[in-house]
Amino acid sequence: MLPTTKRSKKLLLEQLASCASCGQGIAKLLLRGTKQELDDAFDMHYLCTHCAPAVPAQQGVRKRVKQTEDCTLPTVCDVCLRTRGRGGIVPRREGSVLQFAVEVVCLPCTEKYKRCSDCGGGSGRLGVGKWRCKELFDEGRKTCNLSHARLGTGELELAVWEVPDDVDQELQIETVLNACENLWKENVLRMAVPEILDSDAESPLGLKTFQDIQDKILQHGWPAREFVMRDETYSGQRKYLALTWAKNRPRRGKTTTIGERTGKVVKDDDWLFANIRRTRIFAPAGSMLVGIWLSHWDMNRRTIHISTTSPFDPGDLEDRSVVAIAETLNRIITTGSNDAAAILPPAHVWVTYNELSPVIEQRMEDALIKKKGFFPLDEYVQRFPDVKREDFVEPKYTRVVKATGWKQGDPGIDTPVHILVKTLGKSMNWYRLQKLKMQEVSTSLLRRGCPLGL
Ligand SMILES: [Zn+2]
Ligand SMILES: [Zn+2]
Ligand SMILES: [Zn+2]
Ligand SMILES: [Zn+2]
Repeated sequence: MLPTTKRSKKLLLEQLASCASCGQGIAKLLLRGTKQELDDAFDMHYLCTHCAPAVPAQQGVRKRVKQTEDCTLPTVCDVCLRTRGRGGIVPRREGSVLQFAVEVVCLPCTEKYKRCSDCGGGSGRLGVGKWRCKELFDEGRKTCNLSHARLGTGELELAVWEVPDDVDQELQIETVLNACENLWKENVLRMAVPEILDSDAESPLGLKTFQDIQDKILQHGWPAREFVMRDETYSGQRKYLALTWAKNRPRRGKTTTIGERTGKVVKDDDWLFANIRRTRIFAPAGSMLVGIWLSHWDMNRRTIHISTTSPFDPGDLEDRSVVAIAETLNRIITTGSNDAAAILPPAHVWVTYNELSPVIEQRMEDALIKKKGFFPLDEYVQRFPDVKREDFVEPKYTRVVKATGWKQGDPGIDTPVHILVKTLGKSMNWYRLQKLKMQEVSTSLLRRGCPLGL
């Protein structure tokens, strides 16, 4: 056997950095290194924003281990990225070089956030995990209350229902609606991170705290309950609900396949994608809801409006959504192409969303406009002059922020609504739509992550 090299364990040492001039606390410093590294004597020299003469922010210096040794540099919080005075840590012995890593967490951030070790992110100089609002942690817990299920590898089950007809008689309808609402809530709570709450960019909604998320969004509840339950089948409207479920983690040592669990053999053509299987069960037992897609097909306007519970989750715009949307299109193609009424296939796919934060806004633009060929409605009607603007009015079920005047006694907030449209081409026919759909799914299988038109 080879001798194992004795690698010293990394230790964490917390220090409070205070202003050398007025004594005010500035930040918590998290020092990481081996015992030997941390034993090296050091001095901390920090000045708060009030006591330090303004220094221009340094650009391009990112070697922070060394940077902290220069006491004239700004002290930047690693959580909110704001400058909190300036200073650094220097070795007490001349000629010695400090080897431990320094992470800076400003005092407001230590009050507001906690790091979830299960949520992933961070590396190198920074500790492992993701900073989230403290409200998401139970007393004394190091991990947050959000789901930590890894969806990339486990088996998923998907079903598409025409609503309300397919589901309103289901005994489990309330259970499933509550699961939808909970997933929506959880996705909204994923916004309780410094990138969003401590962004300095102008935002009409102004989400700054956990309480803001609660008051401005969550308290109104999941807006799509009515979408599922209200009958609008009249006048050529069809609505679909695509639900994706993940198996709850099996007990240690015991792994089962879906076939074993349901006692049924899974048919080959029910495998839709690498790890996604079609199900005909409304509320699969022992499973957790992980994805919701709502599609509204207007046969007369030739439009499909698509929405999800968490448009700001990049995962929802990628992998799993390909299959959910393709399955929904299957239903639409079956209905449309078999109908003697000669229904024209959809020509426009569109999405709507409220502006929640500049960070999310950027992500949405990247995902939909830059990568998937959507246009803002203004631009769309210019490009396609025969398109009627009034065919694209924000539906209620995507409105998560209530506008002023929406209800008596509730002031509401006016935040911009984004309406994006993508063309499928007026000459689209059912056969070509079917081919396009199959092509997109197989491309995704190769590349993972390019949902049909989305
Ligand atoms: Zn000071
Ligand atoms: Zn901070
Ligand atoms: Zn977590
Ligand atoms: Zn905007």
